[in-house]
Amino acid sequence: MARADLARFPRRRYSPAPSPIAFLPHFTKALGGPRVWIKRDDTLGLFPGGNKTRKLEFLVADALQQGCDTLVTCGAPQSNHCRITLSAAVHEGLRCRFVIEERIPGSYRDDANGNHFLFRLMGVEDLTVVPAGTDMAAAMRRVADDVAAQGRKAYVIPGGGSNALGGLGYVACAQELAQQMKEQDLRFDRVVVGSGSSGTHGGLVAGFLAEGLDVPITGVGVSRDPADQAPLVLREAQAVCDLLELGVTVPAEKVRCVGGYWQPKYSVPNAAMVEAVQLLARTEAILLDPVYTGKIMAGLIGMARSGEIGRDEDVLFVHTGGMPSLFAYRDVLAP
Ligand SMILES: *Cc1c(COP(=O)(O)O)cnc(C)c1O
Repeated sequence: MARADLARFPRRRYSPAPSPIAFLPHFTKALGGPRVWIKRDDTLGLFPGGNKTRKLEFLVADALQQGCDTLVTCGAPQSNHCRITLSAAVHEGLRCRFVIEERIPGSYRDDANGNHFLFRLMGVEDLTVVPAGTDMAAAMRRVADDVAAQGRKAYVIPGGGSNALGGLGYVACAQELAQQMKEQDLRFDRVVVGSGSSGTHGGLVAGFLAEGLDVPITGVGVSRDPADQAPLVLREAQAVCDLLELGVTVPAEKVRCVGGYWQPKYSVPNAAMVEAVQLLARTEAILLDPVYTGKIMAGLIGMARSGEIGRDEDVLFVHTGGMPSLFAYRDVLAP
């Protein structure tokens, strides 16, 4: 199979260096194994960045190439994706508008802390709040039409930046990881990553295939159980492979999803998330977030305790960011 040639795609660079990989000795000891390593994608650029930083390198480059002056995207009230898209817009001298889906009725508050505060601080041009179940693509098209009516040009980025182009960000991550493993002589039995809008998980699956990196990837769902999540991830991975013209059909067994850690609902806290956030903060001084990485790490902890992850494994946890939303959940995390 052809190696993924990312140089064919326009790209902006938002991070100064590869995100570091570190071993977590105290956390590993507290768990009693497996040996847990972390890839610090929470330290990426557009600080405080995260997985969306990687996707936006390709998406924003495309917007600029098309001569757009406004980024339009969507997300939940505490969306990291919206905040990092706004950071990219400010950085590039573009304007930015959001459509916010109030997935939990009444959860949108204009005086909310966390990401919402940062939307206002960094000067989002406009923000439309719509109820759960709204057709988000149609809502964003209406915003784009409104921008066009002012003689400007909008670039619409889907939720989470998860289309084929955004997924290239995690092909780039796979290449970076393969290089680090070689240079630092690291081996992993498994990678654990979050699985939401699926660009991260699907992009990694595509990237591992293209790199010939034969390490299983476990995607911990943040909003869906495997029966609903796996087809989304498979479709994303295939779209990324097709965009790269790899000439490959992604085998369904490469997509492994785990459920049971996101309930009762996307973005709503549970006890395992609270334990995970507190444990990593108190053993390693690394901050997870309540909506994504806290639940994803709860998945890793749960699989370690159930024996699904062996005590002797070396597991790489991909920290996808999200720290600002901690500040909107302090009541649950440090009561
Ligand atoms: C968006 C996000 C995810 C999920 O990534 P997807 O590409 O949407 O699946 C995980 N962690 C954090 C912190 C995020 O903001």
